[in-house]
This record gives sequence, structure tokens and C-alpha cells, in this order.
Amino acid sequence: MPTITLDHAIAAPAYDYLVVGAGFAGSVLAERLCAGLGLRVLLIDRREHIGGNAYDHLDAAGVLVHRYGPHIFHTNAQRIVDYLSRFTEWRPYEHRVLAQVDEHLVPIPINLTTLNTLYGLDMDEAQAAGFLAQRAEPVIPLRTSEDVVVNQIGRELYEKFFRGYTRKQWGLDPSELDKSVTSRIPTRTNRDDRYFTDSFQMMPLHGYTAMFERMLEQAGIDVLLSSDFKQVRDLVHYRQLVYCGPVDEYFEHCYGKLPYRSLRFVHETHDVECFQPVAVVNYPAPHVPYTRITEYKHLTGQTHPRTSISYEYPCAEGDPYYPIPRAENTELYRRYKALADQTPGVTFLGRLGTYKYYNMDQVVGQALALYQRIAREAGVEAEAYVSEAG
Ligand code: FAD
Ligand code: UDP
Repeated sequence: MPTITLDHAIAAPAYDYLVVGAGFAGSVLAERLCAGLGLRVLLIDRREHIGGNAYDHLDAAGVLVHRYGPHIFHTNAQRIVDYLSRFTEWRPYEHRVLAQVDEHLVPIPINLTTLNTLYGLDMDEAQAAGFLAQRAEPVIPLRTSEDVVVNQIGRELYEKFFRGYTRKQWGLDPSELDKSVTSRIPTRTNRDDRYFTDSFQMMPLHGYTAMFERMLEQAGIDVLLSSDFKQVRDLVHYRQLVYCGPVDEYFEHCYGKLPYRSLRFVHETHDVECFQPVAVVNYPAPHVPYTRITEYKHLTGQTHPRTSISYEYPCAEGDPYYPIPRAENTELYRRYKALADQTPGVTFLGRLGTYKYYNMDQVVGQALALYQRIAREAGVEAEAYVSEAG
């Protein structure tokens, strides 16, 4: 995909919009502003590639990998599928995850197979429901990530599957995290072993980066990579700014740092065709330093004599990957949000810009909704699928 140089961006006549961050948020908005409203957009990213955390590429062995960990597309929103389908075809993929617990590799979300394997039983669905009901410890009200799990499946299973994983992933005990975090993982008493139950579960046929390239291939969008906003803000000319980086960074941490959780990815290629039975294996045990191993060929469907995997080691310092959902952080974010609302000419968007633990489809929905607002203010009728985005 053609990109421009900083000199070119500096010499260009004023852009209608400067969009910071070429992930889902910034790329979708740039595409809409340009294709929908005919505006000129400069889209920048401090990384040397587009796609944000969804970026994928061929590694040295020629295996398609996700540089920032496994990204599985799933949604219940047809309008978002319709929109993205303009830029990609899809390949069906239903995500399945196993957890290494004691000496077993068992399905997570916990299901009937998980329970029967772990406890050496042969229960049916109704018996499994009774089994869990006996162990569940009712908690009222449900506030934390510990509460929701213990309330549903009891302490023993909570400790086996959730406590260690969550402590590693977030550097916090589940009792210190909002209930929304572990609520992402359901519990089942049937044999359904899919990680997600959304109506649409597909991967972009040629990968995420190829999809982003098609999205951004427009005469009205200039893409400038390896450039931080701080470096270009006073050099390029633009009327409006959309900022998809960390909101606290934009305001120079004036109220203090918003906490984000980071990850260190260790990528490896192995001389075997297949490394593990499913795309992702979780390691909830506290003594294992990583949380999960991903084998990418399961996600992409690629055939290759070798295989590439990645380990995820959670850490406090590094790229901001996860906003940390807990009351005190929400409170601090509110102060930044109030400041953002009083700052004319700038709109904050995306997982980092609005400090929300959003999946990809939610970020697309957020960007489409912002576009709709901008279009409405410009007196332009936004397309029907956009008007429903939320
Ligand atoms: P990002 O993708 O983070 O993009 C923001 C971009 O802004 C970055 O490229 C960054 O370099 C750039 N930037 C920031 N500050 C500046 C600056 N000052 N100057 C220039 N550029 C800047 N979602 C799913 O739906 N399914 C999944 O399976 C899934 N798995 C995930 C796994 C991991 C390990 C992680 C971390 C996230 C996962 N997600 C998943 C979430 C998904 O990554 C996000 O929803 C999505 O990428 C958010 O898009 P965004 O554009 O808001 O942010
Ligand atoms: N989780 C857990 N054990 C698991 C899987 C998930 O404790 O085997 C908890 C953990 O706190 C995790 C959260 O549930 O951060 C959400 O999991 P998800 O797989 O959705 O995380 P993501 O893919 O966003 O990293």
C-alpha cells in the first residue's frame, strides 16, 4: 500500500482531518470520511504498519501470524459484517480453546466435557447443572470478577481456571477487577466447546492487513507511518483531529497515568506441521509464566510444513494493550473524558482513546457511529447500515 513521507505531509494543503492511529478505529473512520463525505484525511501511526493490534504478516518462515496475539473476528451485528465485507472475503472459523488444568487439556469455557474429564464422571447435561449448582456460592451483589465466577461455579473451579490466569493477565486478583472481565467467559453444561456464540464468526480470507489495505486504498487518504502525533502535530496542517491513542497520553497525563496492561509476545517457528490441537491453549496455573499459546495456522487455515506460535507474557510496562476495568480507573478516565469534551476540534475514539475493553467489532461500531454524527452535522444522509451502528 502506498504511504507518504513526512515531507509530503508537511507540504500538503490542509487536510480536513488528521486521524491518529491506523487500527480499526482510525482506519474505519478515515475510510468513511473520505469515501462517504469526500474529505481529505491524513492517517498516521507511530508503528511502521497499518492495522493496529490486528496487524498480521508473513513471518520469516512464510507463516501468516498476528504480531500482537490472536485476533478472532466475531459479531452479532450484521451492519458491521456488511461494512467490512466491502474490503474482504471471509473464511469460516469457529474459535475453540483448551485449558491445561492439572494433567488435563480441557475445553474452556467450562462445559460438560470439561467437568466429566476433570472429575472422571459421566454426567449428562442436567446432572452437570446440578453439579455446578451444588458448588456455586451465591454472592450478592455481584461486583467483582471473583464474585461472578464463584457465584456460578464455586471456588474450586474458580481457582483452577480463573484465579491464576487473571492474576497473571492483569497483575491483580480477580476480586480487584470489575465483574465485566471474567463475565466475558460463560459456563456451559452442554458440549458446546466454541469460545464465542456470535452469529458471525469468520476470519478475513487474506488476513487483516490485506483488509486494511483495501479500506485505505483511496486517493483522499494519505497514510504516514512511523510517525508519532507529538512529532507531527505542529508540522502538518489540518482542521479536525481524531485521536485513537491513549487519551491520558494526549493530555500529558495531567491527572496521572491511566493504567493499561501490556503483553510481551514471544514468537517461535517449529519444524512440525502442527504444534497443538487447537488455535489457543490457556495456561491458568500460577507457576507457568505465560497465559496462553497461539498456533496461527488454525486461525488462518494456511497449509505449511512448519508452524508458528506465540506465547503471551503479561507485564505492566510496554505498549498499552488492555484498559484495566476497575472502579478507580473508570473514575480517572471520567476526568479525562470531561477534559476531552471541553477540548474543541478533537474527538477521541477506539480502545485507547475511550479507555474501553472493546472487541474489534465494537470499535468498528464506535467508528461508524462517530462517522454518522459527523455526516449528520455536515447535513449528509449517512448510509442505512451506519445509522444503526452503536
Ligand atoms: P489499536 O488497534 O490499539 O490501534 C491504535 C493505534 O494507534 C496503534 O496502532 C498505535 O500505534 C497508534 N497510536 C497510538 N498513539 C499514537 C500516537 N501518539 N501517534 C501515532 N500513533 C499512535 N478483539 C476481537 O474482536 N477479537 C479478538 O480475538 C481479539 N484479541 C485480542 C488479543 C489481544 C492480545 C489484544 C491486545 C486485543 C485483542 N482484541 C480482540 C481487541 C482488538 O485488538 C481491539 O478491539 C482493536 O484492535 C482496537 O482497535 P483500535 O483502533 O481502537 O486500537
Ligand atoms: N479468563 C481466565 N481464564 C481463562 C480465560 C479467561 O481467567 O482460561 C479471564 C481472564 O481474566 C481474562 C478474561 O477472563 O482476562 C477475559 O478472557 P478473554 O479470553 O476474553 O481475554 P482476551 O482475549 O481479551 O485477552
